[in-house]
Amino acid sequence: MSGAFLDDATMNLLCPMHLRVGLDGSLRHCGPTFRHIRPDLDLSQINFMDLFDMVLPRGVQSVADLAAKAPTRIKLRFLTPPRTTLKGMVLPVEGADEVLINLSFGISVVDAVNDYALTGADFAHTDLAVELLYLVEAKSAAMDASRKLNQRLQGARMVAEERAFTDALTDLKNRRALDHVLARLCGTEAQFALMHLDLDKFKAVNDTLGHAVGDMVLKNVSSIMLEETRADDTVARVGGDEFVLIFPGFLDEPTIQSLAERLIRRIEIPLMVEDQPVAVSASAGTVLTHKMLTWDPAVLLDAADQALYAAKRGGRAQHRFYDSADA
Ligand code: GH3
Ligand code: MG
Repeated sequence: MSGAFLDDATMNLLCPMHLRVGLDGSLRHCGPTFRHIRPDLDLSQINFMDLFDMVLPRGVQSVADLAAKAPTRIKLRFLTPPRTTLKGMVLPVEGADEVLINLSFGISVVDAVNDYALTGADFAHTDLAVELLYLVEAKSAAMDASRKLNQRLQGARMVAEERAFTDALTDLKNRRALDHVLARLCGTEAQFALMHLDLDKFKAVNDTLGHAVGDMVLKNVSSIMLEETRADDTVARVGGDEFVLIFPGFLDEPTIQSLAERLIRRIEIPLMVEDQPVAVSASAGTVLTHKMLTWDPAVLLDAADQALYAAKRGGRAQHRFYDSADA
């Protein structure tokens, strides 16, 4: 090689993607990274012009044409996949029938690293590409961590929201959830039945058998109500032994009456606690939206409450529909 240039070994270290190309297109020397990315090719047999599409400079038909333009910038694309784009400089080699072409991946470096499994050793020690790759890796690690954190936050938010609308003892909906359901139904002026159910003399269960047994009764009553209702009905615990049930589109009085009676009969079946029967009963009152002139949630809840207390006054363990005469 001409004395104006460094020897091949030094050039390999400084410019691992350089080529010395004869004016006839023969590849006289290839830097180690170039060999690494084209292990399939016998570089000694192939002509430079058959390896690439030459994007820049335009109109070049041969390496001799290229040499005539040197020094010049060059942009190439491999003809075979992956069709990596390379950019670089063509330099004349004084006194020799060849050119020196130093190539780099430019902005394609991230893809090239994946396509050819490149490592830091494939780049010159001074090449900023290595720093760029660290940045890309750090960015993707940070994005990954941020995505995982977001997923966890989203999960935690859903759990917290669920909890905020759930009664902790029975897992039924709570008062707040009921308010949302009622507001939604009243907002669309949907027809529904609203039942208020309260256990009879429940305080006595707590006083005689203890709070823990009272809790078991409340859970048992909750299961019965869930079993007797449909998936789109709402069953909410709104107070100690008070429940509200909403039946969208369920307006047939005899059917609601028999559902209420079935609920009351099942609640009356004694619950066995440590082989001892614990008996409770329940009273319920229902208001039907089509019998009212309003979709005001507070008025509807009050009407169901009045029907419930009519049932209590009537002797408990029974169901009543709202009748304005009971008020
Ligand atoms: P009534 O027939 O008039 O409804 O009589 P009652 O004794 O059921 O009276 P009320 O509905 O006012 O009493 C509700 C009782 O529910 C009072 C309290 O001891 C009990 N209670 C409230 N919250 C809980 C709870 O979370 N667990 C248990 N075990 N008992 C509760
Ligand atoms: Mg009660």
